[in-house]
Amino acid sequence: MHTFAYARPASLSEAVALLDAHGPDARVLAGGTDLIVRLRDGSAAPSIVIDVKRIAELRPGIREVDGRVVIGATTVMTDVAADPLVRRHFPALAEAAAVVGSVQIRNRATLAGNICNASPAADTAPPLLVHGASVVAEGPGGTRRIPVDELFVRSGVTTLARGELVIAIELPIPARRIASVHVRRTRRRGHDLASVTLTCGVDAAGITRLAYGSVGPRPVLVTDDSGVLVDPAASDEAKAPILEAMFAAASPSPRSMRAGPEYRLAMLRVLGRRALAEAIDRLAAGE
Ligand SMILES: Cc1cc2nc3c(=O)[nH]c(=O)nc-3n(C[C@H](O)[C@H](O)[C@H](O)COP(=O)(O)OP(=O)(O)OC[C@H]3O[C@@H](n4cnc5c(N)ncnc54)[C@H](O)[C@@H]3O)c2cc1C
Repeated sequence: MHTFAYARPASLSEAVALLDAHGPDARVLAGGTDLIVRLRDGSAAPSIVIDVKRIAELRPGIREVDGRVVIGATTVMTDVAADPLVRRHFPALAEAAAVVGSVQIRNRATLAGNICNASPAADTAPPLLVHGASVVAEGPGGTRRIPVDELFVRSGVTTLARGELVIAIELPIPARRIASVHVRRTRRRGHDLASVTLTCGVDAAGITRLAYGSVGPRPVLVTDDSGVLVDPAASDEAKAPILEAMFAAASPSPRSMRAGPEYRLAMLRVLGRRALAEAIDRLAAGE
């Protein structure tokens, strides 16, 4: 393994100063389930690794603050999946966290690490997009909130600026409940990154939100407010062109080892329709 310095700052200001001083040569270490793999295979070769698990502002925990659910940056998937606030208001996020990797991975992998890694296949990206989440970033210029939809650029690249790190993820508690469902397709049972990962959310105003990943360079959010998709009287023929338009942002790479573009696009359509039907059922059942 490439040699690097290891820092474990106890304060946020120290972490920001280190990140700022080293720029792209620094990497934040949270659970390490992505980073350690990359350090081992040489695809990441930072001069310094900054472990953020000792910093109070990033501590694990999920709490309600002023109409938002705030998730500390080092909160792991196991805790996201089990949390009563998350399960009540953002069911698809709990479902997505519950399918990441294996029990061992979920006990280490953080929610912030999943999105900061910016893999197009990140399972928690679609539910965070559907539920309008933002990250709280701290950097040399202070604190700013970045909608998750504005965070992703492409695999491994985010809009976080030099010296910035994520201290929390925030989700607004919706005034109108959003019934949401997370689904994914993998090559095999057991732990595997998704060939398609998708969340659908519907609300009583007839708005349908679809977010999907692993079918392009970054996860995508699309919204339909025509009401047709959730109208029980609307025919499949009426719904088809709307769904097709919502899937149009998918552009899977022909070079991926997991699945070819045709298969991914076919699965995207199947999963999208399935998730929409399930979300409508949940909305009707008050789930
Ligand atoms: C066997 C295996 C199975 C997996 N299965 C899945 C799966 O099914 N679905 C899925 O989505 N992922 C999967 N993953 C990927 C991984 O577990 C997740 O992406 C995980 O959530 C990453 O979190 P972490 O805390 O381990 O991040 P780390 O590895 O510590 O960090 C990941 C990246 O994010 C950056 N980072 C971390 N925290 C912050 C922060 N607070 N601020 C700024 N940057 C930060 C790091 O610098 C690094 O670049 C799997 C990984 C393995 C090894």
